[in-house]
Order: sequence, then C-alpha cells, then structure tokens
Amino acid sequence: MELSNRQEQIIQIVKDNGPITGENIAERLELTRATLRPDLAILTMAGYLDARPRVGYFFTGKTGSELFTEKLKKFKVREYQSLPIVVEEDVSAYDAICAMFLEDVGTLFVTNHKSHLVGVLSRKDLLRASIGSKDLTSIPVHIIMTRMPNITICEPEDLLLDAAQKLIEKQIDGLPVVNPAEDGLEVVGRLTKTNITKALVELARDQHI
Ligand code: ADP
Repeated sequence: MELSNRQEQIIQIVKDNGPITGENIAERLELTRATLRPDLAILTMAGYLDARPRVGYFFTGKTGSELFTEKLKKFKVREYQSLPIVVEEDVSAYDAICAMFLEDVGTLFVTNHKSHLVGVLSRKDLLRASIGSKDLTSIPVHIIMTRMPNITICEPEDLLLDAAQKLIEKQIDGLPVVNPAEDGLEVVGRLTKTNITKALVELARDQHI
C-alpha cells in the first residue's frame, strides 16, 4: 500500500523509539493524538505496527511484500467464488452452447437428477462436439463432458491459493466449488482464473487492508 509522508514518519519514529505511546509519537510530530489516530489505525491494521496496552506501539518488522503474502495466504475460496452455471446431464450440446453464451461463462457444470455434480463442460469440449457432429441438438452433454471422478473440485473453506495451484497443475480455467452431500457433491459455486485475478487486484489496491 502507498504510505503517506506522515505514515512513513510515524513508522520511522516507532522503529527508532518503540515501544512508544501514541501520545509520544504525536508530541514528536507536533500534532495532537486525535489527528494521528487514523494513521495509527491504518498502520496497525495493515500490519506495520502492533500495539500493546500500557506499552505502546512497536514495529513488527514486516516488509510490504511479507504483509502482502501473509494476507494472500488467508483468502478463502468462498470470499471470491462466483455463482455456478449448471446444466443437467441430458440437455443437448446445442442447449449447453446457448447457456454458455447467455450466462457469459467459459465453464458449465453438469448435474444429475439429484443435482449432484457429474461433469464439467468447457468451451473446447463443445467446439470438439461441433466439429464432429452436424446435429448438436441430438447429442446429450453427458457424452462429451469430462466426468466424475476425474473432476478437480474445491470447497468454500479451501484457501484461494490452493485452488489457484490446482488450476495451474491441471491446466484448466475453473473449478466447481462443492459441498459434500450424502451421496454426491452439491455444486455451490464456480472458481475461475478471473476470481483469482480479482483477489490479486483487490489486495494490491489495499481494499483488504
Ligand atoms: P478450454 O480448454 O475450453 O479453454 P479448460 O482448459 O478449462 O477450458 O478445459 C480443458 C479440459 O479440461 C476440458 O476437456 C474440460 O472438460 C476439462 N476440465 C475443465 N475444468 C475441469 C475440472 N475442474 N476438472 C476436470 N476437468 C476439467
């Protein structure tokens, strides 16, 4: 995050003199304690400074990039997942293509009559089917999808970084976010490369700090 001049000054004072009270920092800057309060709150929340009751502020010693990594490692899938777009296993490839365009997604999840995950359909799965057949209305998606148990999944409480790792390792664009049900997996979300890009941008722009 971009620190203001005053915040840089505060960090320097705490580095040189910590632990030091807010009152004391204010005196050195010839400002009131009240004026400093927002800066101290920001620096503490961002992890540069720590405060101990009756002792004062001290420097945590963490660099900007250490703090960045620390925060990134805490992000959960549920905080960034999108709504899943789901089709049933017996809809046609033609209808799946329409759903992909209408919903503006690159990956569809396929479910059975119990609404449990049975497969994944990507853009290329549908392109492949289009090349191979003239009548897309007569091909059910369960014939062309990637099917369970070969589906890579994640759960809402998983770390975003672990989900990102799966996307890279499997060279895929998205993961279904699932909750285990009694006899299958219930699809509750969609985690794509775009979600991960959003998390990175948000972190870099400090909306999380
Ligand atoms: P595309 O190749 O269409 O750009 P992907 O790279 O996501 O899209 O998909 C490549 C292949 O991997 C497709 O055959 C697709 O069915 C399959 N696939 C996509 N997502 C998953 C997943 N989460 N688990 C298993 N296979 C997947």
